[in-house]
Amino acid sequence: MADCLFCNIRDGKIPSVTVYEDAYVFAFLDSNPVNPGHTLVAPKIHCRRMSETDNAMLAQLVAAAKKLGDAVCAAMGASAYNFMTNNGADAGQVVMHLHFHLIPRFSGDGHRMWKGTPYAEGEMEKIGKMIKKTVGV
Ligand code: AMP
Ligand code: ZN
Repeated sequence: MADCLFCNIRDGKIPSVTVYEDAYVFAFLDSNPVNPGHTLVAPKIHCRRMSETDNAMLAQLVAAAKKLGDAVCAAMGASAYNFMTNNGADAGQVVMHLHFHLIPRFSGDGHRMWKGTPYAEGEMEKIGKMIKKTVGV
């Protein structure tokens, strides 16, 4: 995709600090990190979101993220990491080329990903049934 930022990073047309590459996956440092070492892991084949990629590619991505998560923690001296994706604009996705964030975390770094709100009485069971129906279980 000529006008895709991450395709251009993949092709070396836009500078990046690459930390990993294989036949399927490339990974580079986020230029606006939550914590230093924040890494983005993306498929080489352009797709916008999870539903557009096949399971074999997803397995390659997750396997690379597993390896990179440990590497990022070891390099940064982090005790943990967040592994997440913003899947769609309303979830905060800005770059429409599928990518996973690996965010090294440190005790007491103060970052909160989101705030939960308890369900009202009976709502959890109702929503569970709705999702079971749409997932086809
Ligand atoms: P998302 O909101 O999940 O689409 O995340 C996009 C991420 O890409 C953000 O965390 C940005 O900081 C990061 N980003 C944007 N432009 C660049 C760039 N040129 N090089 C590295 N990371 C970038
Ligand atoms: Zn792309």
